[in-house]
Amino acid sequence: MKTLIISDIHGNLEALQTVMKSAQGKGFDRTWCLGDIIGYGPNPNECVEAVREVAELVVPGNHDWAVLGKLDINNFNADAKTAILWTRGQLAPGNRVWLASLNVREVVGQFTLLHGSPRHEIWEYITDTSVAAKQWDYFETAMCLYGHTHVPALFTLREGKKHGNTFSFSFPWGKPFPLPKSRLLINPGSVGQPRDSDPRASYAIWDDEAGTWTFHRVKYPIEITQRKMRQAGLPIRLALRLSYGW
Ligand code: ZN
Repeated sequence: MKTLIISDIHGNLEALQTVMKSAQGKGFDRTWCLGDIIGYGPNPNECVEAVREVAELVVPGNHDWAVLGKLDINNFNADAKTAILWTRGQLAPGNRVWLASLNVREVVGQFTLLHGSPRHEIWEYITDTSVAAKQWDYFETAMCLYGHTHVPALFTLREGKKHGNTFSFSFPWGKPFPLPKSRLLINPGSVGQPRDSDPRASYAIWDDEAGTWTFHRVKYPIEITQRKMRQAGLPIRLALRLSYGW
């Protein structure tokens, strides 16, 4: 079975639709979403509805929670806060209820799914190996899928190493590769607001029969999303950053 893994869509419908079309061309059987469906982008309802329809498992992110009023928005920067307040005014009641019903962690087979980190599902950013190294005791499955940083990444635990047992793993784009037989933390990157200096939408496909993982990037019509953001009165910096992938 092939699983499509998406994260951090952030109300960017053009990116989401492009990813779904690209993934359909490659073939997949089910979809998991690692949170932050909304916040920043101009199409929160459409993105929630598309994820509701397609995804078998979904966990919430910090922006989803902030829009719901489950997090203090003063912890967000000014642009993010403006977008959260705008999104609050847009979100349909049914979509709000559905987002509020999501569990912060899901376990399926050998995977744990969450947004931030195993230690703090909603808030902590796994930015480097030192943060990744602190996570292994906080989940029980072999692998954990997470999002939140908007940067595709793969960390592995090599047992028995005395000094520094956590390593980041470099990977090829668009090519299936066998996952190492060790515990792993994997981030598929962001659909709607990539931050690794590559503006293309990011997603991943896990093939459990072949035992392979593939990171994918796909171009989407960024200027359409940017135009909608300007029309909605969302902060200009949030629209501009999409062109640069930061
Ligand atoms: Zn996010």
